[in-house]
Amino acid sequence: QAKNNGKNNYLFYTSKMNEIAKRKITIETNLRHALKNEELTLFYQPKIDFNDGKITGAESLLRWFPNKDESIPPSEFIPIAETSGLILEVDKWVLSTVCRQLKKWKDLGYPDQKISVNVSGMHFKQGRILKTLGDILDEIEIPPKSLEIEITEGIFLEDIKESALILEQLQSMGIDISVDDFGTGYSSFGYLKRLPVSTLKIDRSFISNAATNSDDASITKAIIMMAKLLNLKVIAEGVETIEQVELLHAEGCHEMQGYYFAKPMSIDKYEIFLDKL
Ligand code: C2E
Ligand code: MG
Ligand code: MG
Ligand code: MG
Repeated sequence: QAKNNGKNNYLFYTSKMNEIAKRKITIETNLRHALKNEELTLFYQPKIDFNDGKITGAESLLRWFPNKDESIPPSEFIPIAETSGLILEVDKWVLSTVCRQLKKWKDLGYPDQKISVNVSGMHFKQGRILKTLGDILDEIEIPPKSLEIEITEGIFLEDIKESALILEQLQSMGIDISVDDFGTGYSSFGYLKRLPVSTLKIDRSFISNAATNSDDASITKAIIMMAKLLNLKVIAEGVETIEQVELLHAEGCHEMQGYYFAKPMSIDKYEIFLDKL
């Protein structure tokens, strides 16, 4: 009986693994097409300065609609794009699309805003990001200050000296760096002293419970205080409730992003948002 179960489990797991492997290959192949066939699009999620209630800009978030009733979330395809190396093409597409959009908004007379773009840690290996951004900014004329790159702490683990060199060059190009999902990585605080980052983005996992769990509240407060002492900007992601808004505001974190204010939205909707300023 036990033996039988074991065998069934084995069969179950291998068929499950086959399924997962197949799905990965399908996604990888289809993503290559998607890049060419305009199946990818960017949504924008506003960032709010709670002091004056104004939008300071937005984060661009990639969306993939293979057809009109299907959508594949970035949490599924970004990791696959990373293992296959396709992420470099994806990031390039995202960065140039955002820059062209920024140029359009500037030409249409929209107020100044900063758009933050998620860039994979892989794009920092061998400084590839410098060539990517250099090429794009040569071609599309926008003030580099309107662009911010979001990276996770993971990249600092690889080689802090190399990371420092790359970030310094980005800084000298005028591009700001934000540390995404701050507080969830494994790196030491030492890098904050050595690397030219300008913003800490407090991870959603702390914000979610900040109003109900005293440990998460303490971590949130500590990050805000540390940012202040180091002269860094701080923003909270994943803000969903008025209680979270009030706590953050009371602690001096005025810039916020989350469903409480707005979900990521298509360009049309975001422009309506901007028009109301
Ligand atoms: P992230 O950069 O940390 O983005 C925040 C995620 O939280 C987004 O999920 C966003 O839609 C979601 N979010 C925002 N506010 C709230 C909220 O109040 N509550 C909840 N529950 N969620 C909220 P999304 O769009 O599915 O993206 C997931 C991750 O995929 C991103 O995490 C980022 O790491 C990656 N990603 C997204 N777009 C890109 C891209 O263009 N390039 C790269 N390399 N990675 C991307
Ligand atoms: Mg992000
Ligand atoms: Mg984040
Ligand atoms: Mg996060």
